[in-house]
Amino acid sequence: GDEDLDSAASPLPSVSASHTDRRWSDTTSYAGKKKLRSWFQLPNGNWELGKILSISGTESVISLPEGKVLKVKSENLVSANPDILDGVDDLMQLSYLNEPSVLYNLHYRYKQDMIYTKAGPVLVAINPFKKVALYGNYYIEAYKSKSIESPHVYAITDTAIREMIRDEVNQSIIISGESGAGKTETAKIAMQYLAALGGGSGIEYEILKTNPILEAFGNAKTSRNDNSSRFGKLIEIHFSETGKISGANIQTFLLEKSRVVQCAEGERAYHIFYQLCVGAPPALREKLNLMSAKEYKYLRQSSCYSINGVDDAEQFRIVVEALDIVHVSKEDQESVFAMLAAVLWLGNVSFTVIDNENHVEPVADEGLITVAKLIGCDIGELKLALSTRKMRVGNDTIVQNLTLSQATDTRDALAKSIYACLFEWLVEQINKSLAVGKRRTGRSISILDIYGFESFDRNSFEQFCINYANERLQQHFNRHLFKLEQEEYIQDGIDWAKVDFEDNKDCLNLFEKKPLGLLSLLDEESTFPNGTDLTFANKLKQHLNSNPCFRGERDKSFTVSHYAGEVIYDTTGFLEKNRDLLHLDSIELLSSCSCHLPQIFASNMLSQSNKPVVGPLYKAGGADSQKLSVATKFKGQLFQLMQRLESTTPHFIRCIKPNNFQSPGLYEQGLVLQQLRCCGVLEVVRISRSGFPTRMSHQKFARRYGFLLLESVASQDPLSVSVAILHQFNILPEMYQVGYTKLFFRTGQIGMLEDTRNRT
Ligand code: ATP
Ligand code: MG
Repeated sequence: GDEDLDSAASPLPSVSASHTDRRWSDTTSYAGKKKLRSWFQLPNGNWELGKILSISGTESVISLPEGKVLKVKSENLVSANPDILDGVDDLMQLSYLNEPSVLYNLHYRYKQDMIYTKAGPVLVAINPFKKVALYGNYYIEAYKSKSIESPHVYAITDTAIREMIRDEVNQSIIISGESGAGKTETAKIAMQYLAALGGGSGIEYEILKTNPILEAFGNAKTSRNDNSSRFGKLIEIHFSETGKISGANIQTFLLEKSRVVQCAEGERAYHIFYQLCVGAPPALREKLNLMSAKEYKYLRQSSCYSINGVDDAEQFRIVVEALDIVHVSKEDQESVFAMLAAVLWLGNVSFTVIDNENHVEPVADEGLITVAKLIGCDIGELKLALSTRKMRVGNDTIVQNLTLSQATDTRDALAKSIYACLFEWLVEQINKSLAVGKRRTGRSISILDIYGFESFDRNSFEQFCINYANERLQQHFNRHLFKLEQEEYIQDGIDWAKVDFEDNKDCLNLFEKKPLGLLSLLDEESTFPNGTDLTFANKLKQHLNSNPCFRGERDKSFTVSHYAGEVIYDTTGFLEKNRDLLHLDSIELLSSCSCHLPQIFASNMLSQSNKPVVGPLYKAGGADSQKLSVATKFKGQLFQLMQRLESTTPHFIRCIKPNNFQSPGLYEQGLVLQQLRCCGVLEVVRISRSGFPTRMSHQKFARRYGFLLLESVASQDPLSVSVAILHQFNILPEMYQVGYTKLFFRTGQIGMLEDTRNRT
């Protein structure tokens, strides 16, 4: 009625950006209008949906749920969407794209187990932490026949298949999100959909069976996720001419080796160790001299041996069956288990001091004897490898005794290397088995399940690498989403000035610039005999302080401004982890023993030592292996990955963890918001906001709002009616564009029409 018109005529309060992210300041807010739904932020940061009762000057009275009435500053109100938009399955349909509206919409759906929502071209998936009835053959068939259209991993995967066939272009499904957000489950759901296409010869079945194997060897219980992947994975699934699966190939990235020898309270080492300890049949137990997990020092560091709801013995049987299916022979399987047992026993090797300089030698007890037996070497040689180091000085070789801490490090380095090589070897065996399709068309769909951005209280070399990878992926993400957006505008013939977006070029430069970037400086320092974490930190400060993305901190720390926020890295351990040395003595030992190891090592470890990095080789600590630094190798892998992805049509899935308790039904606004920002979903929305996110065909627009026209229009064609509506409502020319088939609106414009429509 009249009331509404009055308030509409009063000056509109603009929303203060202070309490929302800068990227979200909504300049087309109508929150001040009476009776309208509006967001109000509670002192705890959560948003509540209220109704505006009255407005006087800069103050408004709003009613909140449960009858509360509050007087608030109008500028603290943020526009809410009309209720016809509640739970829309694409955030792009929202008229007001502010943060509370997005949070509300996702929650509205989540409460009804609709865990998937589109954010424009991106699929957002919120972890339900419970079984939801959205999967299986019924749904697979429904998405195939397009009888269901709500957002889903199946729908994305279906689109990928169709576009692969239609455009004859390889596709990729890029899944990201923080630990526990559901990436691995999502990847499996996508694989399930692809496998349903079939392939003949059971290849699709084989592909699915790689999951339990890789999870057993590469996943572990952490404080954030009972089944946390400690490596990144790209699986490329190949198709034949007839659209059937013909084979696959898996590439892994940066396995967290340190977990083999150390893990925090409440966490576990890799699942396979526990599975082996409880699941190995008697004959195997005896052969490997296996004991229970509690007897092994590496596993005993944390008091956690089992996981709620998981039967490790049963898992062991599943892994063995899967190994059979991907054609790892029984003999090879036994070697794999022997290597695992060797790693466990190695952890039990202890040392005694033999002189007054704190030099040590290993105690010849059950641990040492079993390791020697399992890897097939002489006990004396093993002892030497663990307690001495050969150094080359000119043409001479001198032998140096190790101190306790040096010997312990050597032992742990050996255990880590055996495990890491075993992992790579397994992936290789799997790939051999999956490479059956000889006559490939070259068409493929790749699924990337890679660690998301990480920021903890203490961030080390692992976070440094992971976040660097995320910068690269974010750049890929931005580039593609922008391109798509602009293509649609051009197709519909609208005026479109390119919008600048916050790209992360500067941050990538900080990492990659030569010779003065983070990676180059790290490698350089790693090659210096006297380089330490401290000299590295100082060098960074000296060379990079003028870079806006970098800030030197006190002690040995530095801050990087990532696209997803600032992260402080502690350089402690950076050089050692980057060098990742295995001493010559250990390498010699491993290549000479009579077990499977030499073979495993031949294909991995030793082949790494071909190319020197810049300058002097890693002679520093007496080690002679000439190999790429970890960071350089990772960067190389990443470039290769980006190149591969660049030639594909990408489909993005952003997984969100709604709470930190792995608990169903709990939706924490703050946590969700932080992830939406980090994984760039807010960014996509922001990008769209600077364009024309709301699109409606001329027909639909005319039909929906035509009855609001006060004067009749001469011509009844949809475009003329639409233009008349736009004029009558005084929608400013800069707020919309008329395309060949559609009208394009800036944020908030349809919201106003919709409000009027509802009040009429
Ligand atoms: P990380 O980075 O640590 O590997 P992640 O993102 O891969 O984490 P997942 O292991 O996929 O996370 O998911 C964690 C847990 O959440 C799963 O073990 C499962 O219990 C639950 N979960 C995830 N997605 C779903 C889903 N779609 N349906 C039911 N449960 C799910
Ligand atoms: Mg995972």
